[in-house]
Amino acid sequence: AKQRGKANWVRFAAGMEKPAQAHAQLGGDLRRALNAGEFKLVYQPIVDLRTGRITGVEALARWIHPERGMVSPADFIPAAERSGLIVPLGRWVLRETCRQAAAWLERFGPEALEKAAPNVSIRQLHDPDFVADVRAALADSGLPPNRLVLELTESAVLRGHQVLRVLHELHEMGVRLALDDFGTGESSLSLLRAFPAAVVKLDKSFVDNIELDEPDSAAAGARQAVARAVVQLADALGLATVAEGIENQEQVERLLKLGYTVGQGYHLGRPVSSEEFTARLLDQRQR
Ligand code: C2E
Ligand code: CA
Ligand code: CA
Ligand code: CA
Repeated sequence: AKQRGKANWVRFAAGMEKPAQAHAQLGGDLRRALNAGEFKLVYQPIVDLRTGRITGVEALARWIHPERGMVSPADFIPAAERSGLIVPLGRWVLRETCRQAAAWLERFGPEALEKAAPNVSIRQLHDPDFVADVRAALADSGLPPNRLVLELTESAVLRGHQVLRVLHELHEMGVRLALDDFGTGESSLSLLRAFPAAVVKLDKSFVDNIELDEPDSAAAGARQAVARAVVQLADALGLATVAEGIENQEQVERLLKLGYTVGQGYHLGRPVSSEEFTARLLDQRQR
């Protein structure tokens, strides 16, 4: 089946309904949708920029609403966070990612896919069952803990004592943590000291237009400076990096020059269904 484009997505905030009203409606609908199995995951490759090989995969949630069609996570994740439904939804995302990644590893071998990365909301980290849920998702799927990377959005909330304890427990379990949207938060540097992160994901806003040269664009020059500082910091702390939102080959080349070796973005692969991702792994094996 052909992927539906962004143009077909329902954006509730734009026109028609008032945002608050639309969100209330969404919140009530989410629980029903989860029980009805209307959520699915799509998979976006994380790629070695030097070889073009897949090194990992990020799992992204989609809601296929029976009448509204594809609803963007930009609309339903905030609603799910407000209603608390992000906890059971996130649990499903975690279990489904582990199940699918274990199936791919079984079929294609340990070299084919280094890691699988679901997104985790801060709300989930406050759920007292979270660590047990991760443990169970790994045990039930058979996915080795070091194949799982939990993506957490950089936020001051991550520095709370209780959350840090949870993160250290996960770290001790062998699960890796990635700081998502790195560089956009208020406290990137101090956060890195307390947080047992293994990966930092350079936010797309620093990759946009990074290929443009400094004399033409001061903003691009600033982006390059941030991108360079982030990779140097990561190297110094022994962290891996992923550059997000890469949309053309010029960006790949610029990022390689700055010291990035791993990236993600439409140019390297759009988020696709599990079937299409399987086809890509098959194709890679045959090359
Ligand atoms: P994110 O974690 O930063 O994910 C990256 C987003 O950028 C995804 O949007 C992805 O489709 C999009 N993207 C990737 N490459 C490119 C590119 O080259 N150009 C452009 N323009 N966009 C690109 P998506 O799938 O719409 O997800 C949006 C956000 O919703 C995610 O941002 C994440 O914060 C959240 N999200 C998605 N799924 C989940 C989930 O299962 N749980 C939680 N808690 N949040 C989720
Ligand atoms: Ca992410
Ligand atoms: Ca991100
Ligand atoms: Ca984001």
